[in-house]
Amino acid sequence: MGKCQICGVVGPLSFEHVPPESAFNSRPVFLGDIKKQLDAKTVLPLKGGKQCQRGSGAYTLCGKCNSNTGHWYGSAYAEWAVQAACNLSRASGARTIDATYTLYPSRVLKQVLCMFFSSNSKGLGRYHDALVGVTLNSRARGLPDGLGVLAFITKSWLLRQSGFTGRLDTRNGRGYFFSEVAHPPFGFVMTWDCPKPDDRLLDIRHFASYDYDHLERLALRLHVLEVNTWTPCDYRTLAEIEADTRDGEGAAG
Ligand SMILES: [Zn+2]
Repeated sequence: MGKCQICGVVGPLSFEHVPPESAFNSRPVFLGDIKKQLDAKTVLPLKGGKQCQRGSGAYTLCGKCNSNTGHWYGSAYAEWAVQAACNLSRASGARTIDATYTLYPSRVLKQVLCMFFSSNSKGLGRYHDALVGVTLNSRARGLPDGLGVLAFITKSWLLRQSGFTGRLDTRNGRGYFFSEVAHPPFGFVMTWDCPKPDDRLLDIRHFASYDYDHLERLALRLHVLEVNTWTPCDYRTLAEIEADTRDGEGAAG
C-alpha cells in the first residue's frame, strides 16, 4: 500500500521495472545500501544490500499507471534499447556512437519520464502537475518549461538511480539540479532549470515534439560513458578515479 509516484492515488502498489523488463531488465540485480557504502568510503566491493530477483525496480506505481504506461511506451523503449545494444557491441572502445535509429520518439521519451517518476520520491509528481499530465496523456506533446532530458550510452554493469540531487561547481559557481537513471545500454539525466551537468550528454527533449504514432529515423550521436561510482553524473573512468584519488592523497599529504 502507498501513494502512486505518478498520479498520487493511495492504494495497492505494483512493481515497476526501471527500465522495462523487456529492455534488458529481467535478471536479478543486487541493490546496494548507499549508507553502508558511504560509511565504508569505498565504491567496491558492495558492503551491504539485498538481492532483487525480478530485476531493477520497486513498488512505486498504482496498477493503472503501471499498466497504461507500460502498454503505451514500454515496447517502444525496448526496441530502441535493442538497437542501441547492437550498436554498442559493434563499437568496441568507441567514445561516441553515431547511428541512425528507427523509433517512436514520443513514446520513448515518456517511458523515460516514467522511469524518473519511479526513481524519485513522491515529490516529483506532487510538485510538477504538468509533468504528470504529459506522462499520463499519451497524445500530449511538449514538455514543461525548464525541464531537460539528456541521454548517454553505456555498457557499465554498475546500475545507478538517483532522485533529484544538487551539485555546486566550485570552479565556475554554477549550481545543478538533476536526477539520473543508468541501466545499460542507456543512461538518462533529467535537469530542472539548470545547464547540462556534463557537456557530453545529448539533449533529447525534442523527442516530446513528435506525435504518439510518429515513427521516425533519427541520426543521433551518443557519448559512451562509464558508471563506476554511486555519485550521480560521475562518468569518470577507473583510471581517472585512480588519478584523482592519488592527487587527493598527495594534496592531503
Ligand atoms: Zn498511478
